[in-house]
Amino acid sequence: MRWLLFFGALIGSGVCSRDKFFGDQVFRINVRNGDEIRKLTQLVNSDHFKLNVWKSPSTFGRPVDILVPSVSLLPVKSFLKSQGLDYSVTIEDLQALLDNEDEEMKHNEGRERSGDNFNYASYHSLEAIYHEMDSIATDFPELASRVKIGETFEKRPMYVLKFSTGGGKKRPAIWLNAGIHSREWISQATAIWTARKIVTDYQKDPAVTSILKKVDIFLLPVANPDGYVYTQTQNRLWRKTRSRNPGSRCIGADPNRNWNASFAGEGASDNPCSEVYHGPHPNSEVEVKSVVDFIQNHGHFKCFIDLHSYSQLLMYPYGYTVKKAPDAEELDDVARSAAAALASHSGTKYQVGPTCTTVYPASGSSIDWAYDNGIKYAFTFELRDTGHYGFLLPADQIIPTAEETWLGLKTIMEHVRDNLY
Ligand SMILES: [Zn+2]
Repeated sequence: MRWLLFFGALIGSGVCSRDKFFGDQVFRINVRNGDEIRKLTQLVNSDHFKLNVWKSPSTFGRPVDILVPSVSLLPVKSFLKSQGLDYSVTIEDLQALLDNEDEEMKHNEGRERSGDNFNYASYHSLEAIYHEMDSIATDFPELASRVKIGETFEKRPMYVLKFSTGGGKKRPAIWLNAGIHSREWISQATAIWTARKIVTDYQKDPAVTSILKKVDIFLLPVANPDGYVYTQTQNRLWRKTRSRNPGSRCIGADPNRNWNASFAGEGASDNPCSEVYHGPHPNSEVEVKSVVDFIQNHGHFKCFIDLHSYSQLLMYPYGYTVKKAPDAEELDDVARSAAAALASHSGTKYQVGPTCTTVYPASGSSIDWAYDNGIKYAFTFELRDTGHYGFLLPADQIIPTAEETWLGLKTIMEHVRDNLY
């Protein structure tokens, strides 16, 4: 009987059929010069170690984080030793972190099923997030509405929450984007918390009230819904979309290399099996195209903020070139104030700068597209942490992360409010 129950539980939970990472570890490798970056790039690009890059090699000496499957531990260690590359193990037991995360989610789902409210201190399914968006719109009908902006490759709806006091009039607007990389769960969780924060603080926090008096806010908490569902049913570390690539066994494109901004340039790959595959053409990913169409049809966006994880960075254009953006000085000032506001909450330190020179070249990214299309206030957040948990940030850090991020977001939105153009 106990076995029957056990198998029943296995069948009932999608998580049990998910890929396992027993014995896999995350390595942090320190690179001090161009020669070491070359050696590391060679390692990362070699197919037979089956490595998964968490933090890419950059030209600027930042450490690199790589998930090493258990079968590759010995050969990778000996490669690193033979090349004189210095490394440490940041995650000793990846599966243990995943098990904790699953357990927390299941426990919470049980509580919510038995009638508890949406728990912002937990990670959620796509369905639960969509349901909560609906509840926010129902609770605050004068302020918030749920808008469908398109459908994903696998035909799931894409929803944004629109916050407006303009009574249907078209006004300057801010776009908040999250979860374009599906495994960066803290970004979707922070976004849905932010949605609730906006409606709760309206007419309580003068900053929120005055922002909404002049501008509308559109928030897309799950920009890559197919990928997000896949991280919960198949592979927790999935980053890309789930589109098919004719002629290749590999699935999906990197939706943050797919925008029409120096498409297929540096920092993107033309190999469909790569984690940074740019896709066959700009906007080939319907999830990207839906946002592009919506923003272009609207025509009044002044700010575009994209939430990612991890690394604790606040960046602005460009990613595709080392060339300075014409507004770089203003963007840098705004980003520095935002990072200071964020740090005032609990001391979390962010690094600030243009994407290309702060981390690495990246073409076809969302904020470069936004900036090149007249949306001046374009920023990318890389949320907590700096690599201790990486993409597997424990749920008890969701609220602290969302709270501090909110101070940064509010600083940017106040600047937009005061500098409409
Ligand atoms: Zn990302």
